[in-house]
Amino acid sequence: MRIPVPSAMIELQNLKKQYGDTEAVRDVNLTIQDGELLVLLGESGSGKTTTLKMINRLIEPTAGKVLIDGRDHTEFAAPELRRSIGYVFQRIGLFPHMTIEQNIAIVPGLLGWSKIDVTDRVTELLEMVQLPPDDFRKRSPSQLSGGQQQRIGVARALAAKPGVMLMDEPFGALDPLTRDQLQDQYRQIHRELNLTSVMVTHDMTEALLMADRIAVMKSGELLKVATPREMLNDPENDYVAALMSTPKRQSDQLEAIANEDVGGP
Ligand code: ADP
Ligand code: MG
Repeated sequence: MRIPVPSAMIELQNLKKQYGDTEAVRDVNLTIQDGELLVLLGESGSGKTTTLKMINRLIEPTAGKVLIDGRDHTEFAAPELRRSIGYVFQRIGLFPHMTIEQNIAIVPGLLGWSKIDVTDRVTELLEMVQLPPDDFRKRSPSQLSGGQQQRIGVARALAAKPGVMLMDEPFGALDPLTRDQLQDQYRQIHRELNLTSVMVTHDMTEALLMADRIAVMKSGELLKVATPREMLNDPENDYVAALMSTPKRQSDQLEAIANEDVGGP
């Protein structure tokens, strides 16, 4: 049993980001509970990435606040923020001239961990993302499949034992089987390590299958925040209903195909 790290509550208060005339994020208020896996769902351009990046200060808000366990995140020093918040993005961008081990060890290195601690941590992380350490630690990123690279992306983000994970379409570029595996495994890691996770996706099915709660964004606004079950049964809003109808319809179509009469036209 691994020792869980302290997860955190994240509060977004009247959060806003404006680029010229574009209101990328408009007055978002959202509390992400300690230990929750929250999915930010919305179409392209709805403000998901901007919202996510304001949490770890990759983007500074135009107005509003982010609190982490009640503490304004601007109070954190950069090393503290790096340690407490892991970040995974879609095309993971491993450094090509560094080994897998070196890629994973970037943040621990910045934080001044000893060599032995880093080595042990890399072993532990590779096991966690189900890549045999002896086989993988000395490889270069070009010797990995897309799914394996995303696993390293998750391992790298977890390296300094953060309590919060931010993930921007982490499984978006993967084939469906690999994606399905990684979704499952990430949920396990999230639970086992007692993390607070915020994951961005535009994929309704992924949101419904992975989230504790889904926050739907459109044009920079938060339309609805609810559990997958509530989203499906009581979407309230027409746009949310339309979003949710797609996976339902596809699932009905699949069932119809499976039950089709053999005969044909
Ligand atoms: P999503 O991740 O949901 O696709 P983004 O948060 O990336 O959406 O973008 C939200 C809106 O803000 C879009 O209209 C986008 O064009 C705009 N935007 C994002 N970043 C910038 C930027 N650096 N400069 C100007 N406009 C931006
Ligand atoms: Mg985005």
